[in-house]
Amino acid sequence: MALQCGIIGLPNAGKSTIFNALTAAQVPAESYPFCTIDPNTGVVAVPDSRLDQVAAIFKSPKITPTVVEFVDIAGLVRGASKGEGLGNKFLGRIREVEALVHVVRCFEDPDVTHVEGSLDPLRDAELVTTELLLKDLETAGRRHQRVQKGARTGDKEAAKEALIWDRVLEGLDQGRTVRSLDLDENQLEPVKRLDLLTEKPVLYVANVDEEEIQRSDRADDIKALFALAESEGNLCIRLCGRLEHELSLLDQAEQLEFIEGYGLPEPGLDKLVHAAYRLLGYQTFFTGGPVEARAWTVAVGATAQEAAGQVHTDMARGFIKAEVYPLEVLTRLGSEQAVRDAGLARQEGKGYLVQDGDVIFFKFNV
Ligand code: GDP
Repeated sequence: MALQCGIIGLPNAGKSTIFNALTAAQVPAESYPFCTIDPNTGVVAVPDSRLDQVAAIFKSPKITPTVVEFVDIAGLVRGASKGEGLGNKFLGRIREVEALVHVVRCFEDPDVTHVEGSLDPLRDAELVTTELLLKDLETAGRRHQRVQKGARTGDKEAAKEALIWDRVLEGLDQGRTVRSLDLDENQLEPVKRLDLLTEKPVLYVANVDEEEIQRSDRADDIKALFALAESEGNLCIRLCGRLEHELSLLDQAEQLEFIEGYGLPEPGLDKLVHAAYRLLGYQTFFTGGPVEARAWTVAVGATAQEAAGQVHTDMARGFIKAEVYPLEVLTRLGSEQAVRDAGLARQEGKGYLVQDGDVIFFKFNV
């Protein structure tokens, strides 16, 4: 599974700058058959030093990180929901991604035109969200009419679904995103089928200037953006597009110096990927052996059988059991054999809930 993030935002917010900086060190998409090969898509390795530990212990010659796909979705302007700009094509592309990275301009620069005439991050963020809300109103409204018709002819399922859409439409009308409506699992089921735009988790990226990124507190307009994200059940981070661009042009040793020079805790890619994993409730497990050490992404709450399915569908189908231990035990004892000898390699069944940092060996039969 690769996390697919669509980068959205108003023109001149810094989307392409951030997309290009983040995807400067791409991995060959060919090694990940599920990834899209397309000029607007960048496939990037998820930074995780734990994978190097796995490879060192198993002496695996090949190291395969788990990946994130970024899609640069240009073309959102005021009126997109009515087909302005790239309009519908743009909104269709958003439907396909799992999460949105919403870049909001927070830097002053007289040389870069602001499409709305002045700097106002909160207004810009809300403008973009409004276009998504309007589109969702249209999509949900159409579905509502269909099920209402069914309800009138006595279809009980349709009547039940109509009640869900009443609630969703009321929320959208009030300017609330579907994600912030706290729908329960039953209510979410028909909603998920429509792939509504405001149901997607959003990671706001405040594209700030060099000064703001070095501040430990945040300027008021940035605080407002963080508060907006929180009120929606989303997350916000600060990045400086210009610095990330410069960083992407350096080699690894120079990058470290550069980051320290600016007092940044980590490169923007790491920050963004870690925030996206947190937002989506994703975690990583590892497989290791004499051929390859590999990191895999699963949702928090995924079972051992689902994890096996990430590696190969046959492994999920013919699942017998999973041998599991935490990476921390492996690094402490130094080898898989030592973990087994110490009786710390557990035999788990299909329903075992995978934990972040598990090292797993699947036994299966096809
Ligand atoms: P997009 O339309 O959202 O893709 O925006 P671009 O990435 O093309 O950026 C628009 C302009 O803003 C370009 O000239 C960038 O160099 C500039 N830009 C992007 N990020 C920053 C930043 O953090 N600071 C400053 N001063 N300029 C930036």
